Amino acid sequence: MSHNAESTAFRSALEVIRAVEPRVADAIGAELADQRESLKLIASENYASPATLLAMGNWFSDKYAEGTVGRRFYAGCQNVDTVEALAAEHARELFGAAHAYVQPHSGIDANLVAFWAILADRVESPALRKAQVRHVNDLTEADWFALRRELGDQRMLGMSLDAGGHLTHGFRPNISGKMFDQRSYGTDPATGLVDYDRVAEAAREFRPLVLVAGYSAYPRKVNFRIMREIADEVGATFMVDMAHFAGLVAGKVFTGDFDPVPHAHIVTTTTHKSLRGPRGGMVLCGPELADQVDRGCPMVLGGPLPHVMAAKAVALAEARRPDFADYAQRIVDNAQALADGLLSRGATLVTGGTDNHLVLIDVSGYGLTGRQAEQALLDSGIVTNRNAVPQDPNGAWYTSGIRIGTPALTTRGLGAAEMDATAELIHTVLTRTTAGTGPDGGPSKAKYVLDPAVAEQVGKQAADLLTPFPLYPEVTLG
Ligand SMILES: *Cc1c(COP(=O)(O)O)cnc(C)c1O
Repeated sequence: MSHNAESTAFRSALEVIRAVEPRVADAIGAELADQRESLKLIASENYASPATLLAMGNWFSDKYAEGTVGRRFYAGCQNVDTVEALAAEHARELFGAAHAYVQPHSGIDANLVAFWAILADRVESPALRKAQVRHVNDLTEADWFALRRELGDQRMLGMSLDAGGHLTHGFRPNISGKMFDQRSYGTDPATGLVDYDRVAEAAREFRPLVLVAGYSAYPRKVNFRIMREIADEVGATFMVDMAHFAGLVAGKVFTGDFDPVPHAHIVTTTTHKSLRGPRGGMVLCGPELADQVDRGCPMVLGGPLPHVMAAKAVALAEARRPDFADYAQRIVDNAQALADGLLSRGATLVTGGTDNHLVLIDVSGYGLTGRQAEQALLDSGIVTNRNAVPQDPNGAWYTSGIRIGTPALTTRGLGAAEMDATAELIHTVLTRTTAGTGPDGGPSKAKYVLDPAVAEQVGKQAADLLTPFPLYPEVTLG
């Protein structure tokens, strides 16, 4: 029995919850057990610190605080002001940004705030000016239709989905694809890398209002200085969505041309991926866009989540400590060790390797779809997700890729030796899995065959790999 503060805090919290609805307390306990047991290679996930988690579980959740620090639509927000101002200050200092808006509830929300800010700043529209009123309901019918027409004409150029771009960068399954007339840039088919000459060509031809950089499945650095030059040449606002790699920027692994903050007009991010904070989003910008960004709530966002802003302040304070830079470097070292381990065993990687936190395996070389590989790995205790590869012949549902990332395992303390062992386990599962038969007698894109004894053996090895690196070692639930 451990009696440290963290164990006491979480144990007491569960006891209080259990008295009301024991099934919730049980599910929370089971989630910790599951996370402790799984070899988590999901590139977008991490483990926030106990201090960050605990900052979210309190009465800040009860407070309405629409507006911004010092300018609220509700009374009695002085303590919310304290934590929001602290989170913003830590964010500005950490990233060297002039302005930080820490209210977005998620990465998608941060992007919506940014899109609105850019449109409001750039589009010369009488209807849009009127839309700055507190309630869009105050617009006349004619103004509302004018607004929708004017907004629908604006253009966005972003990275294509199969090259690693994100749905919120103007793609149809997301509202951004309805807000913007979108075109995308891909990667060089031979190298898999961003071809800046082709981005510039597309920008000159398409003349976008917004040029977006950022990705969720591109395993390389992007040169933001060059992207800004392209944006400037065509008069576009340059936005970077660093949702995935914010931790590498915070930890000063991405500096100079690869740090988006000095080059972009506006930067958005999540706070829960490599940055290792609470589930949420954030916008960084210069003074020009700050007023528009601060209109995020209520223009785009629901009421702020003060308990999450408190947790953002805690996590950002952690990210400003020197050991976070060490953590960020280990994320990249681990990704490279994982890539090397896979390559040396004969795997095909998109772009041939990585220089960030993620690796994209093209599993077609194993005769599998991404869906089959994802399931077979999951059966073997290895949690990954399927992902399209450039020009994916299997589309976005079945895909031909497996995306793996190192932020979570690096938080647990795994290093290069364990990454090589992980590569061995992944390679074993993928070589021992074969495609099943579809209803037409041909190869299925979903069914697969994997000897359960292999899955069990790999699962045991995966669990053994984790044993020396307990998750939340300071927390014992009893
Ligand atoms: C994860 C991600 C988002 C969305 O973040 P949510 O918090 O899930 O809304 C947006 N953009 C990029 C590039 C991402 O990787």
